[in-house]
Amino acid sequence: MKNNGSKILFLNPPSTQQVFRDCYCSDISKGPFFIHPLDLQVQSGWFAQAGYEIEFIDAVIEHADAEEITRRILLLKADVVLSLIGEAVYENDCRFLNELAIQNPNQRLFLTGDIARFEPQKVFDAIPRAEGILMDFTSAGLLQYLEGSTHEHLMTRESNGSAVLKKGSYSHPVASEKFAGTYTYQLPFFRTPRYYSLLSSYGCPFRCAYCNVHQVGYGVRETDSVLEEMRLATRLRFKSLYWRDPTFMVDKKRTFDLFDAWRAERFSFEWIAYTRPDVVDEEIIRRAAEMGCGTLLFGVETYDEKSLKQASREMESEKVRSVFELARKYGVRTASFILVGMTEQIKAESPKFSDMTQYEKRLSTFLDSLDPDYISLNVFHERPGVKANTPILQAMESQREALRVLASRITRRFYLHPRRIARNLVRLLYPKQWGLLLKIVYRLILPAR
Ligand code: SF4
Repeated sequence: MKNNGSKILFLNPPSTQQVFRDCYCSDISKGPFFIHPLDLQVQSGWFAQAGYEIEFIDAVIEHADAEEITRRILLLKADVVLSLIGEAVYENDCRFLNELAIQNPNQRLFLTGDIARFEPQKVFDAIPRAEGILMDFTSAGLLQYLEGSTHEHLMTRESNGSAVLKKGSYSHPVASEKFAGTYTYQLPFFRTPRYYSLLSSYGCPFRCAYCNVHQVGYGVRETDSVLEEMRLATRLRFKSLYWRDPTFMVDKKRTFDLFDAWRAERFSFEWIAYTRPDVVDEEIIRRAAEMGCGTLLFGVETYDEKSLKQASREMESEKVRSVFELARKYGVRTASFILVGMTEQIKAESPKFSDMTQYEKRLSTFLDSLDPDYISLNVFHERPGVKANTPILQAMESQREALRVLASRITRRFYLHPRRIARNLVRLLYPKQWGLLLKIVYRLILPAR
């Protein structure tokens, strides 16, 4: 490919905490897991296609500090930097990026991330040298802006426009091989922990009140574009795939069309995906298992149907239970994602959740009835773009610290249960997982803080 003479650096900035900041969500990782910075990966495709020289630094996975990263950036002499920024470590990110701008005054700086996408003015005020904010990380908005053409997904200080929401179908180029070829990220869900991330859709068609993902719209990526990326992953010798769609397999026909095309190409991956229990049925789970699905990550949230309804997420516990059973029937492992404290009880007992014991018992009984292989207990907070606009969310927001301790206690008890330990011993059959397993055990035996 012809080099157009410009160099762009994709940057996941340094942090003393193990943070992730992509896909408009930032948080501190609960385990020794590293997730690809997907915003940057997707953008690398647009810029590689346009002939830019690509550079990539992920300071988080490298455990590199601000001083070292600044020194390396100065040496790279990139014309443009596209950096992630995250609400979870906002002060840290502002400090680093402002310092970088002082040391490197001729470099143009652009941002992507939750706080930038949902609170652009606040970020422009805090980082005076930021020239623009990418409002849709799958779009060519930044490239179009740099090339002087019309751009609707790149917000600048001068543009007052609001972000354009995604709808219909869309496409973007596959990641730059220079970018994705360096990946060493690992997850414990796979027999071969080194994995590749990709998207088959952007945003979400649902409207859960505690989530910001649907606020970017919803679009589905054209199948040819998805297959092209699977070919790249095959070429780069990845055996494991992580579908990063916020909700995978929403539309049954589209899902089966994708499976058919993927089977025709003879791809062979072990894969995982996030989805909702109420969008899958026996046929989907059976076909997913045939296509190599190893684990489904289900957004379950709670046993309390009333609180789900109030958050615009109607879902019957009985349906949830039956889907976990079906997954077991077809040999697909499951993860249950819970929003800890999501119950009418917390509202009734606000401002102080006085009888957590009762809630803890009910949640543990519910989890036992699902019998997932993994759990992830999350604590609600007003992420950028989200307002605690129901009494339950307000009660959860005001009791975050107590809920965090509770989540930690339930998680330790879950994984240290002899039945789970016995079930996880099978992983010892896969030597590539040993290093990760040791790190997970270390995290679990740390006392709950
Ligand atoms: S289904 Fe998941 S991604 Fe979609 S709005 Fe609800 S919580 Fe967000």
